[in-house]
Amino acid sequence: MSHVFPRHCHATLPTAVAGDGCYLIDKDGKRYFDGSGGAAVSCLGHSNQNVINAIKEQAGKLAFAHTGFFTSEPAEELAELLIANAPGDLDRVYFVSGGSEAVESAIKLARQYFVEKGETQRRHLIARRQSYHGNTLGALSAGGNALRREKFAPILVEMSHVAPCYEYTERDTAESLEDYGQRVANDLEAEILRLGADTVMAFIAEPVVGATLGAVTSVPGYFKRVREICDEHGILLILDEVMCGMGRTGYLFAHEADGIKADIVCIAKGLGAGYQPIGAMLCTDHIYNTIKDGSGFFQHGHTYLGHPIATAASLAVVKEILNNDLVNQVKQRGAFLESALQAKFADHPHIGDIRGRGLFRGIEIVEDRDTKTPFNPSLGLAAKLKKAALAEGLICYPGSGTRDGKHGDHILLAPPFIASEAQLSELVNMLARAIDKTLPSKD
Ligand code: PMP
Repeated sequence: MSHVFPRHCHATLPTAVAGDGCYLIDKDGKRYFDGSGGAAVSCLGHSNQNVINAIKEQAGKLAFAHTGFFTSEPAEELAELLIANAPGDLDRVYFVSGGSEAVESAIKLARQYFVEKGETQRRHLIARRQSYHGNTLGALSAGGNALRREKFAPILVEMSHVAPCYEYTERDTAESLEDYGQRVANDLEAEILRLGADTVMAFIAEPVVGATLGAVTSVPGYFKRVREICDEHGILLILDEVMCGMGRTGYLFAHEADGIKADIVCIAKGLGAGYQPIGAMLCTDHIYNTIKDGSGFFQHGHTYLGHPIATAASLAVVKEILNNDLVNQVKQRGAFLESALQAKFADHPHIGDIRGRGLFRGIEIVEDRDTKTPFNPSLGLAAKLKKAALAEGLICYPGSGTRDGKHGDHILLAPPFIASEAQLSELVNMLARAIDKTLPSKD
């Protein structure tokens, strides 16, 4: 009997024993193409020697030094490299151990920033429906994924949720993309005014929505209007790039595609590429200095902040991404993957939408393409698809439809940046076979 507490109590999972490039290998020798990097984590595949060597070297030199007493060379070098390549005014980096910790840190930083400024009445965080920001209580409270929140609702912190930017199902057919973007951005302003503008501290959003909707980009102009609204009301803009950041969308930081500046950005997953657990929160010097010149101390922290082995691994990951021009490679291979998906599924009666950016792609499953009606979520089609894909030797990340009956199940694809075109074609073929076995037939 296994004593590991598994994610799904009834599942019998294969035991992963090795990684080889884009593949994971189980105890029986079966190979799985990692078409989703787990959940958009393994951007460099599973056996990058430079990262492995960096971990070994750092473990041999220094494994741990508490950040209350010391900084470390890899943390300093990594922060410098990230800042040198970050857009906008991001100037400071706070290293944590994962995405939820990065989001928790961002929420608390926003609050403390206003406390230091004497604006103690600012306490509201506004997020979007159909979003996911992590599983710890603060981050879960921010997220608008009804299914993930449901069991914990009575113990969550009260936060506001406004319209997502999800044109596939929510745009009126008569409305232009731009008009739709302005309309949903204005939903944020309406909520700010409802709460009282001087009581709101921040708005948080994923530039490309990951786990909840499956690689949903915003429409042109949406984030520009969001930025304007935040500026008009003195509200901080927190961008959660835990899933979509670090080159995944063909931009090192996903919000570069939206041409806006953020006050705080959260990254994780691709930052450590799965070699070490690490996340980070980046913020402007203005926020940092407000705290420095105020109480001089961010009232937050975890034991493993800036862990030397994690930051050394991440430093090697970021160098791999930058030195091998992988961000551009993601753009090109992403375009290839998109055409391969379109060629295979554009006419499929139960694939309603094929979307995303770079090597971050989503496929939405619907019962009826014309009306965009989803299948009944109780059919659990995404989970069945995941299982069928695994049997084919493909790892892809499933997402269940929303409870309001408006959004269907989806599959998220986030293959390693090093995947060749031939491997991406094979990914699409394996997915097609899994879809044929899972969804009702085309006739
Ligand atoms: N934010 C986003 C956008 C995410 O996709 C995730 C993880 N799926 C998180 C936060 C939480 O990250 P972690 O699981 O590393 O805590």
